Amino acid sequence: MTAERIRAAYEEARATAGPAITIVAATKYVSVEDMALLVAAGVEVVGENRAQDLERKHAVYGDAFRWHFIGHLQSNKAKVVDRICELVHSLDSESSARRLTIPALLEVNLTGEESKSGVPPEGIARFVELYRGIRGLMTMPPLAVDPEASRPWFRRLRTLAEEHGLAELSMGTSQDWRVAVEEGATYIRLGSTLFAG
Ligand SMILES: *Cc1c(COP(=O)(O)O)cnc(C)c1O
Repeated sequence: MTAERIRAAYEEARATAGPAITIVAATKYVSVEDMALLVAAGVEVVGENRAQDLERKHAVYGDAFRWHFIGHLQSNKAKVVDRICELVHSLDSESSARRLTIPALLEVNLTGEESKSGVPPEGIARFVELYRGIRGLMTMPPLAVDPEASRPWFRRLRTLAEEHGLAELSMGTSQDWRVAVEEGATYIRLGSTLFAG
């Protein structure tokens, strides 16, 4: 992993996605030390999955990045996330919503898989009522080899956001971000494609 390699992958994604889409570097596998390579590569927005890692990295890098939270948010960690981050992508509990003051996206479980986080589509309206900070929706489609397999899930998420008057869509990872861009993503979350190689 080198800053040059990260920069090349990041710039390619930026050029393809265009200025309206925010690229969030998913840094769960990046060590505290290696975060310096992202600074050197010009990465602006990072997404962490665990509040503890978020705190450790933020303590070192502070304003070098804008911080997002993309992992499962436990309500006892909501205060920490609220203090450090500008956006939560993965809100899915009322108890966390009550502790947040920052903007958030609601994670939607479109497949009904019990192993997955997220609220069911029928639960969106209630959350939008409950928490005024909700700006949009996020989803993780089922793992698939073919990026096209994600397209119907991304379309469904966009339709749901439109139905609820929400503007932001966090969808697409290394594997299927090009499809997500075509389907209206406003945030894409990239890990391995930036850091592999
Ligand atoms: C790890 C992670 C990503 C990035 O996945 P890659 O396949 O490495 O691009 C995106 N979103 C969430 C919620 C993640 O945990």
